[in-house]
Amino acid sequence: MSPNGLDAKTFFERVEGITYNDFILLPGHIDFALNEINLETNLTRNIKSKMPVVSSPMDTVTESRMAISLALSGGIGVIHYNNTIEEQAKEVRRVKRFENGFITEPVVLSPNHTIKDVDMLKEMYGFSGIPITEDGTLDSRLVGIVTKRDTDFEEDRNKKLKDVMTTQLVTAPAGISLAEGNRILKESKKGKLPLIDKQGRLVSLMSRTDLLKNIDFPYASKNKDKQLIVGAALSTREEDKERLAELAKAGLDVVVIDSSQGDSVFQISMVKYIKSKYPQIDVIGGNVVTAKQCKSLIDAGVDALRIGMGSGSICITQDTLSVGRAQGSAVYHTAKFSREYGNIPVIADGGIAHIGHIVKALSLGASTVMMGGLLAGTSESPGEYFYEGGVRVKKYRGMASHEAMERGGGKRYMSDKDRIKVAQGVSGTVVDKGSVVHLVQYLMQSLLHSFQELGCKNIQELHKGLADGTLRFERRSQSAQIEGSVHNLYSFKEPHLGLLRMNR
Ligand code: GDP
Ligand code: 5GP
Repeated sequence: MSPNGLDAKTFFERVEGITYNDFILLPGHIDFALNEINLETNLTRNIKSKMPVVSSPMDTVTESRMAISLALSGGIGVIHYNNTIEEQAKEVRRVKRFENGFITEPVVLSPNHTIKDVDMLKEMYGFSGIPITEDGTLDSRLVGIVTKRDTDFEEDRNKKLKDVMTTQLVTAPAGISLAEGNRILKESKKGKLPLIDKQGRLVSLMSRTDLLKNIDFPYASKNKDKQLIVGAALSTREEDKERLAELAKAGLDVVVIDSSQGDSVFQISMVKYIKSKYPQIDVIGGNVVTAKQCKSLIDAGVDALRIGMGSGSICITQDTLSVGRAQGSAVYHTAKFSREYGNIPVIADGGIAHIGHIVKALSLGASTVMMGGLLAGTSESPGEYFYEGGVRVKKYRGMASHEAMERGGGKRYMSDKDRIKVAQGVSGTVVDKGSVVHLVQYLMQSLLHSFQELGCKNIQELHKGLADGTLRFERRSQSAQIEGSVHNLYSFKEPHLGLLRMNR
């Protein structure tokens, strides 16, 4: 055994597949403070993010709430496609229109609508503070506002809003900062603050109830127009071209072609179609685990690759089909090839079962890490909490579980039209992990410590160490793995309930 470990080439170019648990990184030299580390990375050729975290397009992981919170935190969410075209486009639109603290698409009525219409909106959305514009649309001149106080005691619900609305308004110019808007809301003691342009047209709205939630997110992933960045999944099927057209209209930044085996004529032709028809949208191809598969998709024009086959926590592909690859080897070999063949970023997708697996994925050449199970069970993931054996949990299921396939998830596995559906995933539960915003902060802080131990100030330096052999690897025996985990205790308190429990 080498006293200073092995370089990645010697370590990974052996016969058996290596998983994240099979190796450990040896420490480097520290000559900088934690705050000098920068985790900025490339999701794709053209899209950067401040954190290497991406959420998986699964129906128990990513809809707009997850994508918004993750983008605010510096990562990126990918909206799943186990829904109708309209639903998926609506989720994308919600992320694109989101402006922290501002309601960018407020529900609006015209002076000729009635109190009954406000009642209906209250029933549908839960709020009743409605700006009134000349023609009842956003971007038309603001003429008043209707709140509970204007309508509470009106018996005649057919009365027109022009007869009850408040016309003495406190407004602010669109484009003011969040802090300025918050100040005006506090000082005016009003419940709503409409923001208007120079012509007096309504642009957005602020609500007093959101005051406490209006915090700044310095790492937010935004495009040049200051909108949050969002991805969405698409299948390789011909009919998904129609889906893509709607997603593009909604302002999608990046599409993930969701397929369990990416090296197919279907995917290659879909990539070429997207690159020629929508040059403004980046394409992530996958999933792939070999250099040969990468070559097919890079030649077709992808902007990033998604790596992983059978390593997901809910996944039974390797047991069922006997095709796939251990995730450590998959990431190492594909990242090496893609770096040398066009410098295409790779996303390590699936199998992140410990916090520490994130840095391992990056150390093997991944630019970002996609997670399902680790982000499921947060308050921003779709679904309700319930109790299982006294523990608060949420459902988490594979997109190729029988349950998800019944709703359309089989597209990824080309089995949505089959009469007999072979499951490649299971349906289960994960523990409540609280807000994803706090979880990501915890994960990133832990990542900063890893980088410091390794003596690397950023992901680019880590990748340089991987390529030039200065990053050192060592094989972990079974007993080394036991020694490296909590052992010999009668009981102990988990530092972060959700994260340790995930491994059971
Ligand atoms: P209201 O006084 O009945 O309008 O309700 P609240 O102000 O107590 O709560 C409204 C909540 O819904 C806030 O958190 C808003 O940010 C949120 N919201 C989202 N979209 C809209 C919208 O279009 N109009 C209004 N009024 N609130 C919205
Ligand atoms: P996790 O982060 O939970 O370990 O893995 C999530 C990843 O597993 C997803 O991003 C996706 O690539 C993969 N995946 C999702 N559902 C299924 C499934 O039903 N079967 C298989 N084989 N993989 C799945």
